[in-house]
Amino acid sequence: KQSDQKSTLRKRLGIMGGTFDPIHYGHLVAAETARYKFDLERVIFIPSGAPPHKTKRRISLPEFRYQMVSRAIADNDFFEVSRIEIERTGLTYTVDTLRLLKEKYPNYELYFITGADAFREIFTWRSPDEIIELTQFIGASRPGFDALDFLSQLQQQSPRFYQRMHFMEVPALAISSTDIRLRVKAGQSIRYLLPEPVRLFIQKNGIYK
Ligand code: ATP
Ligand code: MG
Repeated sequence: KQSDQKSTLRKRLGIMGGTFDPIHYGHLVAAETARYKFDLERVIFIPSGAPPHKTKRRISLPEFRYQMVSRAIADNDFFEVSRIEIERTGLTYTVDTLRLLKEKYPNYELYFITGADAFREIFTWRSPDEIIELTQFIGASRPGFDALDFLSQLQQQSPRFYQRMHFMEVPALAISSTDIRLRVKAGQSIRYLLPEPVRLFIQKNGIYK
């Protein structure tokens, strides 16, 4: 794919958004693969505040989710965590976050990292046309979610989105936060699905019981 000169010369910042309830190796592998494949200077993890599409189930305290991300990324110098969404009140929309990030990092080209499932949902988000001008997308392969049909549709119907949405293969990890929460609730082991400091934090605070 062709990218214009300006974007190849600018520094690249990765954004990894998610509920992270809890963060697991699927998120970390996607972020790390995006970082080196797309030459991102660093990746900022942004735990969501009150995500509009997740109003049905009760989400863990923002502070817990922030602390879990913080522990999970502590050993990677290229990873950071941001409080930008958890400190905002009301429903948090990605478009608002991206506007703020664009102001804060005017010299960076933004790359929003998602899994194939979230990647396919872009048109259900608020203001997709504005979003796609604020950031490019990197969609990681995720077991159970095919992105190729979506991409070929995009190529035919939305050239601008196709130009700015990139698909990336990552080592397949059939791990989800939902599955981890269910395991904790059922008293099953979650070892090796997420970093050990995160598992210990969950245990110590009795999260997902
Ligand atoms: P939940 O089951 O609660 O929805 P989740 O595991 O999907 O949790 P999210 O916080 O919803 O985690 O995901 C944040 C981002 O990480 C999304 O873009 C999602 O597609 C991506 N992602 C999550 N798990 C994986 C995985 N195993 N492989 C690739 N991408 C993933
Ligand atoms: Mg999810």
